[in-house]
Amino acid sequence: MTDSLRSLDSLRDATAAAFPGALDELMQLVRIPSVSWDGFDLTHVAATAQHVHARLSASPLFARGGDNEGVWIVREPASDSQGGGDTAMGREAVIARRNAAPGYPTVMLYAHHDVQPEGDLELWDSNPFDPEIRDGRLYGRGAADDKAGVMVHLTALDTLAAVTAGNPNIGIVVFIEGEEEFGSKSFPQILSRWRDRLAADVIVVADSDNRSVDIPSLTVSLRGNVTCTLTVSTLAHASHSGMLGGAVPDGMMAAVRLLDSFYTADGSVAIAGLHRHEAPVPDFTLDELQHDSGLLPGVSDIGSGPILSRLWFQPSLTVTGIDAPTVMNASNTVLPSVRVKVSMRVAPGQTAQAAFEALSAHIAAHTPWGAHVDIADVDLGNPFLVDASGSAAALELEALRDAWDGADPVCAGVGGSIPFIAQLNSVFPDAQILVTGVEDPESRAHSPNESLSLVVFHRAILAETLLLSRLDERGE
Ligand SMILES: [Zn+2]
Repeated sequence: MTDSLRSLDSLRDATAAAFPGALDELMQLVRIPSVSWDGFDLTHVAATAQHVHARLSASPLFARGGDNEGVWIVREPASDSQGGGDTAMGREAVIARRNAAPGYPTVMLYAHHDVQPEGDLELWDSNPFDPEIRDGRLYGRGAADDKAGVMVHLTALDTLAAVTAGNPNIGIVVFIEGEEEFGSKSFPQILSRWRDRLAADVIVVADSDNRSVDIPSLTVSLRGNVTCTLTVSTLAHASHSGMLGGAVPDGMMAAVRLLDSFYTADGSVAIAGLHRHEAPVPDFTLDELQHDSGLLPGVSDIGSGPILSRLWFQPSLTVTGIDAPTVMNASNTVLPSVRVKVSMRVAPGQTAQAAFEALSAHIAAHTPWGAHVDIADVDLGNPFLVDASGSAAALELEALRDAWDGADPVCAGVGGSIPFIAQLNSVFPDAQILVTGVEDPESRAHSPNESLSLVVFHRAILAETLLLSRLDERGE
């Protein structure tokens, strides 16, 4: 039986009381520019880790000091062989653990305290690291992705501690990573080294989005990713284009023809061997797509089939960078080579490795004029499909509905990739993984003017508080 402290109304009141403090602390975190990329001041990443560590250390939940219980900052080497220099060592992650009472599940709460670089400051309406509230949204880098996720966990845990007198039955793991935006390079190493501290039955990943401010989502599928660079070369050296243009192909010509071969006339990916996932999707109109993407008047959408199927379940390929002379520095030269960065999304149901092999075979078959193509800097992340039929998913859907004033949650796919989720799944295959989030379509994570809806933030805290309290009451 639900005691009065844990009724929906009481937990709603407790969340409302905690909310101003949570928002204030979120703003403190946003003021720390914890960009995890190489070349940025990594003392800021250490500072956000310290903040989270101090915060968890002050909680009665982690003060018991039993086997594997406590709060730690961990730092492990990157486990892939790519890169070097700063990439050889991962960034600070924070782990906290409290063991479960017999018969109760352990819940892991995951978020990340690092952020993307701010990018072009000119494109921001306010300083990315001086958070500002405008029209019910908090603007700043990391305001949504994913410092709000960190604060959802910390605030929900505070309320759980309050309603259980600091002594809940469920086990709790908090895992706040410090390099999600830099490819989670030491994640596999952290998982294997600290497996006993991290082991959990339910894993809540607060790093995704919602259908809208008024419709919550549980993310049940994620596309994988393949990124690589292609260096397309045709000549041993540059020459004057007036002398040789028209008789020999330059690197740009060969690259342009190769890139063109990646797409069909309607803009679908033309690479043979890429999987397409079939599953029903909610309706999503062209108007909504235009609104969310900023598609210019007269520019058509690409691909075919339901729009959300294209975004969630079909492969895509984007050219995200080209190294070539700038227009200002352009001279009349046939270019010997051009370097291109390719970012591919992989449909659920195919490994990133298989998709990469399909891409490689396509390149070998479609490179014009015998041009040389060197493929390098390969990064692979597997897609993920969640089993939404588990008991924890049912509790989460109920918590989302209650927190969103009765709105039915959507089981959603996401076009983006969170490769570490596939890694969590392989290390803890029996754990139920719940991918929740604080973003909405206006959040613009990774972009200028990233923002968080304060309404979504509030509801996300309440939903997680309800989930934890109900798991704690019911066991599993
Ligand atoms: Zn994130």
